Parts: sequence; C-alpha cells; structure tokens
Amino acid sequence: MSARDKTPKHAAVKVDLHCHSHCSDGKHSIDFLAQQASDNGVTHLAITDHDYVHTAFATSTTQGVTLINGVEISCDWHNLELHVVGLLVDPACDALQNLLVSQQSKRRERMTAMDGLLTERGIPGLMQSLGELPAVSLSRSHVADFLVTTGASKTRQKAFKQFLGKKGKVAVAPDWCSMHSAIEAIHAAGGIAILAHPGRYPVNRRRLTLLVEEFKTSGGDALECAYPNIAVDMQQALVTLARDHQLYLSAGSDFHDAGAKWTDIGKFPSISVNDEALAVWHHPRWISEFGHAVGMSAQAV
Ligand code: AMP
Ligand code: MN
Ligand code: MN
Ligand code: MN
Repeated sequence: MSARDKTPKHAAVKVDLHCHSHCSDGKHSIDFLAQQASDNGVTHLAITDHDYVHTAFATSTTQGVTLINGVEISCDWHNLELHVVGLLVDPACDALQNLLVSQQSKRRERMTAMDGLLTERGIPGLMQSLGELPAVSLSRSHVADFLVTTGASKTRQKAFKQFLGKKGKVAVAPDWCSMHSAIEAIHAAGGIAILAHPGRYPVNRRRLTLLVEEFKTSGGDALECAYPNIAVDMQQALVTLARDHQLYLSAGSDFHDAGAKWTDIGKFPSISVNDEALAVWHHPRWISEFGHAVGMSAQAV
C-alpha cells in the first residue's frame, strides 16, 4: 500500500487558484468572490491580485470557503511580458512587499504617462477617475473602462486595440521586474511560484520550452495548465513540459468580473485524473498548510 493510499478520506475539495478582486483590476470585493465561490462549490479560492497581496487574511475561511493569499506578479523575460502567480505567500514578508510596492509605483507612473497622452488627445481626467476606485494596483484594464465610460472607445477590446496595445495611441512600455526576481520574492514569502497561463504568451512552442526551462532553473515550481479557453493540445503540451521539468500543475479561472458572462469562479477545464498526481496540492508547501489532499478536484462548474 502506498503512502497516499493510507491517507484518510476527507470531504471533496474543489480549488480555484487564480482570481482578481477590486484591489487590482477585478470588479468585486473579497466577500463577493467568497460568496460566488461558495455558490459554485469551490472550497479553496486563491486571491491573486496583480502586484498586490491582501494583508487582511493569511488563509482564512469566509462563507465556508478557504481563502488563500496569493499574488500575480507582472514580469519581464527577454522582453516578453509574463505573469507569475505566487500561492500561499506571507503578506508580512519585506522582500515581497518591497517588490510589490515598486511594481505598484511603476504602474502609477505608467498611468500618469497615459493620462498625459490622453489629455493631449482631448481626453482628460484619467488620474482623477482612477482615484475614485478601490484599486491599489492600477492597470490598463482600468484605462480601458475609462475610455468606454468617456465614449472614446465603444468596447474594452477596442480600447486595447486602438489605445492601449503595444502599437496603441497612448501605449507606454512597462518596466516590470525580472521573472527571476518575481520567483525569488515569492519564495522569500514562503510561497509556491506558478507560471500563469503559459499558452497565452505570443511565443512558438520552441520558445515556450525555453521559457519553461528558464522558469525551472530560476526556481519556479508549477505551470498553470487548466484555465479558461486553453486548447486541448496546449494543455497536453504543458502537462508534458511539467513532467519533463519536474514542475507541478495548477488551475484557476483568472476571474475578474461577473459581468463577463463567459468566466466564473471555479470554471475552467479540469486537470485530468492521469495527471492529478502532479497537481500543486501535492506540493510540500500546500501539504504543510492543508494536509494531504484527497478527493481534490479542479473542474468546470
Ligand atoms: P497591465 O497589467 O496594466 O498591463 O494590464 C493588463 C490587464 O488588462 C490584464 O490583467 C487583463 O486583465 C487586461 N487585458 C489585457 N489585455 C486585454 C485585452 N486585449 N482585452 C481585455 N482586457 C485585457
Ligand atoms: Mn487582469
Ligand atoms: Mn495574467
Ligand atoms: Mn490573472
């Protein structure tokens, strides 16, 4: 009998390890997210705001849902913009907070520069409008909302295409930390470092493999391989890359907004039964927090 066969059975557990609150570019409060998770049968929800960690909870239970402290750090890898999720991070860690405060102030500077460019084009008021939001970590997503509200863009998608994308009218290049520093800060805070939505980056398979190799040699722990709209062949490629590089697998909805009907907390393709042994809930850090995971699932609602 293997060690896992001997672990006691617990009630079914269902995770969502990636979502955003209104402290970054999500639309909702933590209480709303916890209620939505509860309604959808999610038992463990990680709040992973962009470059911001909540201090109010470490891991706590709200509406019967265990909230996990996380973060999604924007970073640079050879001029490619990447996101690294940190799971089970300690918000009191100075090294992590120093990095996040620096990222937040770079975000604010970027918004101020965009405000200047928009004002020159006859669209003033961005910073004032951002000041009315609960967000600590500002993002282009907020600018997209502003452009729709002012009537400068018909939709958020158009705002990104015409104004905010790399060739947009008010594009300002970001200045993120390196992938290596993001992983280091997450580890300093006792967290698990996960490469977020690897199939969404504009790279071919050869470069994706190089990225995963460097992510692993930089100390990275897991690849997100179950998220909305991931193609079946991409998920299989990521599972193979994870196996080849001794990385765990993670899963999450990347939920931002209940108004965007195609996303929901807990809604994303599952990690297949054959690959479950690689899931991040078998990571020693997860086990030290929650014990052995039996009956865990990451499935569509
Ligand atoms: P930033 O971190 O300031 O670069 O803003 C990026 C955020 O904007 C992402 O986290 C997404 O939530 C959102 N976003 C990025 N690209 C698009 C897009 N094409 N359409 C809608 N939202 C987007
Ligand atoms: Mn976002
Ligand atoms: Mn992301
Ligand atoms: Mn995200």
